[in-house]
Amino acid sequence: MAKLVSQDHPALHQIAEEVPVEEIGSAKIQKVIKDMRKVLLSCPRGVAIAAPQIGVSLRIFLVHDVTANNTDQEERIPDMIAINPKIVKTSKKRTEMEEGCLSVPNRYGNTYRHANVTIRAYDENGELFERGAGGLLAHIFQHETDHLDGILYTDHAHKSWETDENYEKVTDEN
Ligand code: ZN
Repeated sequence: MAKLVSQDHPALHQIAEEVPVEEIGSAKIQKVIKDMRKVLLSCPRGVAIAAPQIGVSLRIFLVHDVTANNTDQEERIPDMIAINPKIVKTSKKRTEMEEGCLSVPNRYGNTYRHANVTIRAYDENGELFERGAGGLLAHIFQHETDHLDGILYTDHAHKSWETDENYEKVTDEN
């Protein structure tokens, strides 16, 4: 049964391998995607997941539309799968945003990231696509691409703090 690996798992700290494009439709890769989705859906605050987070060192991430049932949410997040994603365009402008990570429990932090990015990736059917994003989705693209390069947001957050299980701030750090 697939599950989140702990923060010190080597897959979270190494460069993940590209998926050979002809293998995207294979049972093996489709199973990895299915496992990622299952684990993400089991995390109440999860909005995206990268394969290394379940211990699979492959360049795949998945975003889930957590806003579907929340019409108050100003920003819709699409359901999407990105295989071998590359950030092909970034804005000079950076924005600061609060981030958390399923692999770093009970912690939040602030990071600076490009305000807008465009990724090029393959979808689960092996079709190449490009997608631009701003706001939260732009941060998600950068956070997830970082996972594929063995980087956790806590490696570069300029401020982070511990939270309890209700996401209330417990301590201030940095
Ligand atoms: Zn993460």
